[in-house]
Formats: sequence, C-alpha cells, structure tokens
Amino acid sequence: MPRNSADLLIVGASEVLTLGGASHRPRTGAEMNELGIIKDGVVAIKGGLICDIGSLQKIYDKWSAPGIIHAEGRVVMPGFVDCHTHAVFAGSREIDFIKKIVRKSGREISAVPAYLEILKGGGGILETVAKTREASEERLMIYAAFWLNNMLKYGTTTVEIKSGYGLSFEDELKILFAIKKLRGSKMDIVSTFLGAHAFPPEKSREAYLKEIIDHMIPHIHVHELAKYCDVFCEAGAFSVEEAEKIIEIARVWGLKIKLHAGEFNDLGAVELGVKYGAVSIDHLDHISDSAILAMAEAETIGVLLPAVPFHLMTGHYAPARKMIDAGVPIALATDFNPGSAPTFSMQMVIALACRQMQMTPAEAITASTINAAHAIGMEEKVGSLEIGKQADIIILDIDNYLQLPYWFGGNLAREVIKKGVIVS
Ligand SMILES: [Zn+2]
Repeated sequence: MPRNSADLLIVGASEVLTLGGASHRPRTGAEMNELGIIKDGVVAIKGGLICDIGSLQKIYDKWSAPGIIHAEGRVVMPGFVDCHTHAVFAGSREIDFIKKIVRKSGREISAVPAYLEILKGGGGILETVAKTREASEERLMIYAAFWLNNMLKYGTTTVEIKSGYGLSFEDELKILFAIKKLRGSKMDIVSTFLGAHAFPPEKSREAYLKEIIDHMIPHIHVHELAKYCDVFCEAGAFSVEEAEKIIEIARVWGLKIKLHAGEFNDLGAVELGVKYGAVSIDHLDHISDSAILAMAEAETIGVLLPAVPFHLMTGHYAPARKMIDAGVPIALATDFNPGSAPTFSMQMVIALACRQMQMTPAEAITASTINAAHAIGMEEKVGSLEIGKQADIIILDIDNYLQLPYWFGGNLAREVIKKGVIVS
C-alpha cells in the first residue's frame, strides 16, 4: 500500500505524552494523572497540524515524510500553555525584591547602606504603571517580543497576556493594541483586559470605575481588543462590589470573565466569579473550603500561580491537593510580571507546583497543557497531541516525564516546534 506523505515525522521518543481525550472539558481529580503516554510513539505533521500519532509500526506503515526529527530517546509533549501573564510592561522592580529580602531577614532597610538611596524610591505597581505610560506602543512591543521569545525557548507555545499597567483609557488601549499586533508573532496569544488591576493615582475610585465601564469596555468591544475581562479583587485593589459592576458590563459587551482572587486575602471573590460564570479564577492562595466546593460544582478552572508566593516569600501556597481532590479543574501559569512573578518559565512553575503544593508531576503537566488551554478557550487547537490539532510540540532533554519537575532551575527544552516549524 503506498504511504501518504506528511511534512515531518518526529520519531525515536521514549515517551510521547499526548494528553489526548480532554478537549471537550478540562481534566479533574484522578484524571489529571492521565497523560495518554505512547511508548516509542511517532507524531506525523502536515500543514502545521498533527495528521497522525501512534506507535512506530502504525505510523511507518501509513506515512512517509521528507523531514524527520529524531528525538533520541527523549520525551515529546505538547508545548506549554501559559494561561496567565502580564507580559506587556516597561521597567523592572528588582529594588522591590531587595526590600523584601531585607524585610524578610528581619533587618532595617537602613542596615543596607549600599542600597539606601534607591530603596527610598517609590516601587510597587505604580512604578511599573509610570514606566509603561512613558513607553510608546512600539517600545512595549519590542520589550514584550523579547519576553515572548524567552518563553518560546523554554517551551511555551501559547500565552495569555493581560493589560493593566496603563490605568487610563489611552494607556490601556495602547497596551491592548500592542498585544493585538503581537498576535502575528510565532506564538498564539490570547488577550485579556485588566484595566481593573489597580487605581491610578490621579483619579478618584468612582471616576476610574466610570472610565472602565463607560469608555474602556465599549472600545475594547468595538476594536476586538480582548476576549476576557479580568478584575484584581483584593484588599487595596478592587472590592467585590466594584468587581461586580465591571463584570456585569463586561458580559453585556461580550467579554468572558476571569478574576484575580485570594492572592493575599479571601474577600469572597470566588463566590462572585462562580455566580457570573467566570471561565477561571486565578491565584487562590487564600480560599475557603466552601469556595473550593463551589468551584468544583461550577467546573470553574482554578489557575494556580506558585511563582508568586515563591518570589514574594510568603510561604503561603494555594491548597492544590484539596482543590484537586474536591474536583476543581486546575491549571498552572507563571503570572509573569515585574512585581510578583518575574519568571517566564513554565518549567520552573511545574517544579514549584510539585514541591510547594504537592502536585504529582503528571497533574502539573496536565495543568500546564490541556487544562491551561481550557482556561483561555484554546482547547480545540492546542494543549494536547491529537489528530487535527496544531503541531505545537516540545522535545525535552529527559528520559521520562517524572524528570520534568525533578531537574529544576534550567531549561530542558531541546526543540520547540510551533505549527509544525522548529522555532527554537
Ligand atoms: Zn496576575
């Protein structure tokens, strides 16, 4: 029988992690340990899509291809989906970081004379807002492209990016237009409006809330600038009542809902998210047992961000075990941002999830691929290796998947393939 011709075959993998069979709904509970492993599996790619996948014999009987990648006994899996980032910003906040180290050490800032002058400076989110406002759209795109390229090198092939460092009509739209233009890059990018990230210093709470509701959200709809609307619901940021006003309007304008909740306090924002059918609720380091049950019942995805308590040195991680055991679908993400999570590495996040939240390696991989794809509405295209899906594939320099969280702190991605093309 003549063989069909594909563009590319990936052969010689010790394990192909397909994550197949979960494109209709995210995996929960014990299912999160199912990786759909094919030993010595082969992936056939045509036109940027996976045209077949299976055992060596099955694929060789059916397919030939001019291009062959030999995985040399390494692990082949779907590219990571980073479903929560703030990757468009200017500047960095290492001074905030030094302040935290000093505070954590129990010393006074004045005990660190070398840093004294710079430590007196502003810092915090408003420093990033000021720098982001100063930067042009083109400049922000250059900065973001640098970070996206690093993400790609570390195996992330799909990313969500939020606005939120503009905090004015012009600056939030500038960020969202930058994200829209970046969509033409190698990555798949999903855009989220997070004008409700903080309150700007120059306006009253009421005035800014009105600006979001009356001006920003309608413009975002008209220019198709975002798929989701997110609110940072936290003490010192937006209250549950303020978040509810924004959510109601966002839904009217066709935006789907996400929420930042329980990063430092449990304000009852999870209940609000569940009430309005949020696609995901993110952070959840502080969450009540009843809120966990409500999320499980509503099948709301919990996006956990362990790089944040790690970087902030709070020691307070989301109760992932409790949530998985209760049936909440869990995804993982970096929360990449200059203040609370300056890492673009999903590999690092997986390492933290296993060590700090006792997720199994398989659960962490599921949470970083197919479940993360569900959290940003990309489950039909990415997050698993199945016929018809995009050939977004990484080859990791490890013998078996258990080594992904085990060898931590480096970059295990040997080859990164996006839509059938080697990009790193
Ligand atoms: Zn965030």
